[in-house]
Amino acid sequence: MTRSIRPLVAGNWKMNGLKADLAIAAEVAKGYDIGLKSAVDIAICPPASLVYPASAALIGARIATGGQDCSTQASGAFTGEVSAAMLADAGAAFVIVGHSERRTLHGETNATVKAKAQAAQQALLVPIVCVGETKGEREAGKAIAVVKKQLRGSVPDGATAATLVVAYEPVWAIGTGLTPTAADVAEMHEAIRAELGRMLGKAAAAGVRLLYGGSVKPSNAAELMTVAHVDGALVGGASLKAEDFLAIARACA
Ligand code: PEP
Repeated sequence: MTRSIRPLVAGNWKMNGLKADLAIAAEVAKGYDIGLKSAVDIAICPPASLVYPASAALIGARIATGGQDCSTQASGAFTGEVSAAMLADAGAAFVIVGHSERRTLHGETNATVKAKAQAAQQALLVPIVCVGETKGEREAGKAIAVVKKQLRGSVPDGATAATLVVAYEPVWAIGTGLTPTAADVAEMHEAIRAELGRMLGKAAAAGVRLLYGGSVKPSNAAELMTVAHVDGALVGGASLKAEDFLAIARACA
């Protein structure tokens, strides 16, 4: 954790959730009590179809919502795409960009991710820019070099602590139950902060929230959150269980 940074716990529901599942969000809202509110920000990123009803349901609880992706374009003939402005109009405050599932399954390059992050900022959404190495890259000793390159290619120029969140999500840790050691997370988050410092200037980089993501659970959240430069979590599977998501938020607080 970085003492001067208010942590953020964001839930990525991925392609899960129908209207009835807003009950999960309602349960999270119920558990987000004064103590938690004073210590940690929470965001829920449901599928695009639920951003509006989730935002309407959560606004009173001061829980933010986010999209899971956005178009590089502002509007026009891009069938099936959702623009950042549409997400903002639906009540979102954040949008995840460059998730490894988008990079892998949809061939998104660093340049695409950067264009999406810029589109998000233009719509006054805060992009949660995801970076992370594959298992092969880690085993080859290239994890830090890979992540630095992703940062250089994906983070918009001139981003500040108020307009950027970065999530380090090792690809091999997502949905697998595997996590890096605390020492590996520490080394990576320190490297990310330093690289952002070179890109954005030290003062801006010092306040950017750096989330760890990849198989975060109630049982490992506390240890991960003690690591320097880990300012919260991006949570996939465990965000679909209100009790688990709240336990992770408590660990971040
Ligand atoms: C994610 O999809 O961003 C993620 C971190 O997933 P999980 O927590 O399920 O590993």
